[in-house]
Amino acid sequence: MPKETGGRIISSRELYLRLLGHVKPYWRQFVFGIAFMVLLALTEPAIPLLLKPLLDGTFVERDPDFLFWSPILLMVLFLVRGTCGLASQVAFAWVSGKLVLDLRKLMFDRILNLPTSYYDAHATGIIINKVTHNVTQVTAAATKVLMVLVRDSVIVVGLLAYMLYLDWRLSVTVFVLLPVLAIVVRLIANRLRGLSRRLQATMCEMTHVLGEAVRGHKVIKVFGGRESELRRFVHHANWVRRLQFKVKLTDGSSSPLIEGVAAIMIALLIYIGTGQLGDNPMSVGAFVSFLAAMGLLFPPIKRLVGVNQPLQSGLAGAESVFAMIDEPPERDEGTAVMENVQGRLVFSQVSFRYSSSTENVLEQLDFVVPSGTTTALVGPSGSGKTTIASLVPRFYAISGGKILLDDMDIREVTLRSLRSQISYVGQESVLFNDTVAANITYGIEADVSPQDLEDAARAAYALDFINELPDGFDTVVGEDGVILSGGQRQRNAIARALLKDAPVLILDEATSALDTESERHVQSALHNLTRNRTTLVIAHRLSTIVHADEILVINEGSVVERGSHADLIALGGQYSALYQNQFGQA
Ligand code: ADP
Ligand code: MG
Repeated sequence: MPKETGGRIISSRELYLRLLGHVKPYWRQFVFGIAFMVLLALTEPAIPLLLKPLLDGTFVERDPDFLFWSPILLMVLFLVRGTCGLASQVAFAWVSGKLVLDLRKLMFDRILNLPTSYYDAHATGIIINKVTHNVTQVTAAATKVLMVLVRDSVIVVGLLAYMLYLDWRLSVTVFVLLPVLAIVVRLIANRLRGLSRRLQATMCEMTHVLGEAVRGHKVIKVFGGRESELRRFVHHANWVRRLQFKVKLTDGSSSPLIEGVAAIMIALLIYIGTGQLGDNPMSVGAFVSFLAAMGLLFPPIKRLVGVNQPLQSGLAGAESVFAMIDEPPERDEGTAVMENVQGRLVFSQVSFRYSSSTENVLEQLDFVVPSGTTTALVGPSGSGKTTIASLVPRFYAISGGKILLDDMDIREVTLRSLRSQISYVGQESVLFNDTVAANITYGIEADVSPQDLEDAARAAYALDFINELPDGFDTVVGEDGVILSGGQRQRNAIARALLKDAPVLILDEATSALDTESERHVQSALHNLTRNRTTLVIAHRLSTIVHADEILVINEGSVVERGSHADLIALGGQYSALYQNQFGQA
């Protein structure tokens, strides 16, 4: 049955084959597991099989050999069953563990190179759920379905064959009456469900009439509605009675009906088994053995009939897992490799629209950040500042125009080399649950000398607080860096950027959340960081950008004013208004 995912139809068959493809590296262990499962299933008919000589040989004929061997044989049988069960379970647990690991690895790898737009469109919880829950859902369901399909089919076929071998007339009786029994059960269940539904509806109507009568008693009295109300109520109440009676009747007759069919079946079996048809009667052992086989037949049949449910749940899981693995990664068509750029950044006629939206966020944006200088972006919230900044490391692909770094279109460069030229300090400083040192040197493959580490921390005004931590640079910062204050986290992020020493720097600066003391430190750290770097800074506090070489005032995705702080104040436009707003008449 086909299913829809992200516009693509994946058939169930495709899903199985794909899943099997992932099992292929472990086919030996898989076959081992199947083999023991089949062996286990084959021992199931052996239970009734053993029952026959056990009863006939020991209880009836009291054969001394049988008296000795039967119990031992029985014990051996259960020993074999236990061993087979364990062996197949271990094999499947091992294979499914490997499968989960492989799928998780593939998914996580894909998560690491998904385009930013994917993260915008998908909640973190859903992505996490796919990797943690859906993968295990797949293997759990697959194991279950496999067990049912392989083991239970073998059991059913084995038991049926044994029953036929014991006595074909009894078997035919069972094969004919078993479906009758199933149909009776199904019919009763269906009728009960239908009746209950009708009963519920009628009960609702009766309550409704009752409620109306109580609420509307004045109208009923004045307009003489007593008789008609009574008729209405009795009509519904009588239906409630009739339906309740039918439910009781159906429910009560279900056991006698089922037992009746079963009794007919057993009576027929006894009739035939005791040789009433004119041939030799069965032995006690054979008859009991037949009944035992029949009893053992029910559970696997029930499981086979219900196999669709785990099957569907497994398919749903597999679908979501494969859909994630199949997500197209970030586009990276550039081939040129960028190294040690000067850092001249040019936006030329850049337009941009988020794929989820219909309107351009940025409209033909033009500006140049000469190498080693600082350009600040100011403007109301939602004007597009963060968007501009996120285009430089190509988190999104622009819709029109071009962005040049050192006169090279950034689309022609590999993502890896482009990003190696850029440092980024965001609004929330992302810290990983590791040591302070590991957080500062994050992403640097080469060994960092303790001296370099300390220099970076000092320049970021972070050395003092790091030295006060219980284990200095080796202190584990906790999840999201909980043990550090906001300002400390930010200085940690600044130290990371200093150590990376990339020529281009992007600051989505959030000094507004910091106390004055922290802010002073962060400002000094930022001052060290921006020196001799091409910096694009998004300023929330204007105090931090008065020294910027150029200030761009952004409004609705366009530059509305540009110039130095002094120029813009002299202009007396939006910037000067913003400045007045933040600093009063100063
Ligand atoms: P600023 O940083 O200046 O406050 P942004 O660049 O964050 O502004 O947002 C500019 C516009 O783009 C806003 O209208 C915002 O709603 C929209 N926007 C921002 N991020 C996304 C996104 N990931 N998907 C769709 N629209 C977005
Ligand atoms: Mg923003």
